[in-house]
Amino acid sequence: MRAARFYAPGDLRIEEVPDPVPGKGDVLVQIEVALTDGTDLKTFRRGHPLLLTESPSPFGHEFCGFDVATGKRVVAANSAPCGACAMCARGRETLCENLLPLLNGAYAELLVVPERIARVNLHPVPRTLASEVAALVEPLACALHATAGIEARQTVAVLGPGPMGMLLCACLKDAGAEVLIAGGTRERRALAREFGATDGAARDADVVIEATGKPKGWRDAVSAVRRGGTVVFFSGIPDDIELDARRIHYDELTLRGVFHHTPHTIRAALAFLASGAYPWRALLTHEVSLEQLPALFAEPPDGYLKAIVRP
Ligand SMILES: [Zn+2]
Repeated sequence: MRAARFYAPGDLRIEEVPDPVPGKGDVLVQIEVALTDGTDLKTFRRGHPLLLTESPSPFGHEFCGFDVATGKRVVAANSAPCGACAMCARGRETLCENLLPLLNGAYAELLVVPERIARVNLHPVPRTLASEVAALVEPLACALHATAGIEARQTVAVLGPGPMGMLLCACLKDAGAEVLIAGGTRERRALAREFGATDGAARDADVVIEATGKPKGWRDAVSAVRRGGTVVFFSGIPDDIELDARRIHYDELTLRGVFHHTPHTIRAALAFLASGAYPWRALLTHEVSLEQLPALFAEPPDGYLKAIVRP
C-alpha cells in the first residue's frame, strides 16, 4: 500500500510499504478519507513528544474508512483508555497510564486499529453522515471534553479562531453558554458566528479557553479573564512560560488543563456531527491526494483550516 511516513521535521515521504496485517481483535480499515489537523502540522514542523516515537513513523490520526472484514463504514479514535489503571479507576480516562502509544497512520491506504481501540472507540458511521464530516469525531471529542463543566449562561471566550476554536464554539453554544470569539481575521470571526459565537473581548468572560497553541495565547488568557474567572488551557505548547502570578493569586483565578478525549465524548461527538446542528463541512477547506500532502504541510494555502486527504 501507499502510506505517508514521517522521517524528521519537514521530511514527510509517500512510500510503498507492505500491507499491514491485523492481529486477533484488531480491525483493518481501508481509509476513505483522512483529515489534516493542527497537531499534524505542528508535528510536521518540529516533531512531537507523544505522537511519534519511531522514525520513520506512520502519520495522521483523523479518518473514516471501511472495516475490511465487514464492509461497514467506521470511525475510530486514536487511543482508548485501559479501564484498569489507577487513573481509569478514578474516572480520569484522559490520564490513563496505558493511553500511549497513540494511533497514527491514517495518511495511508490501510490502517490497523488495535484491539483495545477497536473494542472501546471504534463506531459505525450513521448512514446520513458524510465520511469527511464523520472524520471530525476525534477533534470534536477533544472539544467536548474541554468544555465539560461549562454551565448555561456563563460567558466564555475562545482565543484562537482555528478549526479547534470553531469546534469549541459549537460545543459551548450547545451547552447554553454565551460564546465570544476573540481575535482573528474578519473571515474567521464570520465563520465563528456560524458556530455560535459573537464578536467580543476576553475581558468580559467568566471563562477563557485558550486554543491558539502559542505562549502568547496562554499569557493573554491569564491577563484577560475576569476576576475570579477560569482559564482552560486547551492547546499544548512545548515551552516553559511565565504567567502573571499576582493576577492568579489576588484575582483568584482558576487554571485548568484539558487534554484529549474519553469514550463518552467520542460517542457524543459522533452523534453531535450526525445532528447537523452546525456547518461542520465548512471547516474542510481543501482536498488533496496523498502525494500532495507534504507540499500542503510545507506551505499551507490561503484560507486553509483543514484538508481532506483521499489516499
Ligand atoms: Zn487506564
